Amino acid sequence: MKNTILGMHHITAIAGDAKRNFDFYSNVLGLRFIKKTVNFDDPGTYHFYFGDEVGSAGTILTFFPWGAGIPQGRRGSGMATEIGYSVPKGSLEKWVERFEKYNVIYNKPSERFGQRYLTFLDPDGLKLEFYEVENDTRKPWETDEVKADIATRGFHNVTITLNNIKGTAGVLTDIFGYTLIGQDGNRYRYAVDTVDQAALVDLVELKDEKLGHVANGTVHHVAFRVIDDESLMYLREKVVAAGLNITPQIDRNYFHSLYFREPGGVLFEIATDNPGFMIDEALEDLGKGLKLPAKYENIREDIEAHLAPLN
Ligand code: ZN
Repeated sequence: MKNTILGMHHITAIAGDAKRNFDFYSNVLGLRFIKKTVNFDDPGTYHFYFGDEVGSAGTILTFFPWGAGIPQGRRGSGMATEIGYSVPKGSLEKWVERFEKYNVIYNKPSERFGQRYLTFLDPDGLKLEFYEVENDTRKPWETDEVKADIATRGFHNVTITLNNIKGTAGVLTDIFGYTLIGQDGNRYRYAVDTVDQAALVDLVELKDEKLGHVANGTVHHVAFRVIDDESLMYLREKVVAAGLNITPQIDRNYFHSLYFREPGGVLFEIATDNPGFMIDEALEDLGKGLKLPAKYENIREDIEAHLAPLN
């Protein structure tokens, strides 16, 4: 576990209206809303975290809901273009029924690397995929409508689209310890063997694809998981040794992070398990209060007055 990448930690995307984002992920998809905070670099906007019961690494999807009417982003090269979740075998038809009920845009289930999957869009146009995965033993979060027979188990894979996969593949294999495990046309699947789940990254090579534009409905960055601060700084040295620019360690309250732009243009983060989401809320209260970093507590009233209510 030391000094190695343990699959994905979290994925962060941009959304528009905060309440609509909250409703879709907590109600329609049935994820647990585990933290309501603000963008640490822009406290006038929310930062939402959705995950499993405890906010385990590899289940965490986070959003910056910038507000209704923000410019629409565009999926393209140099970007993580699809977020893949693991769901139980046989659940896709039930998800299709659910998507019909909630007017979710989806494609009919298809198959990739021997697994059935269902592609759909969130209300802001963010592209997600549900993969039927056998033997995913992660404990699902259940809601009144989304029970264990269909509930997501956390991430399965993330897809990154590139004009040329070479530089990104090099970071995955030479720095992060991934290996190429499969190819399907222009899709190259990489995996780490340090964890059983959230272990896959797919690189899709599209030579002529235009650069993506990060705004509403697109992925902002992909975070990879390490066990602790020592491993984080070990990985930092490896990134520096590869000649890439990387930030110093940044305290994100719930984890400690580094950021660097990989050669394909995607913003990568490396994040620790510690200290976790229970640092400022008990397990049963996760997501209930507006949690602010210490530096903003003195302007809490002002911040709360400007954030849209969620219910
Ligand atoms: Zn992040």
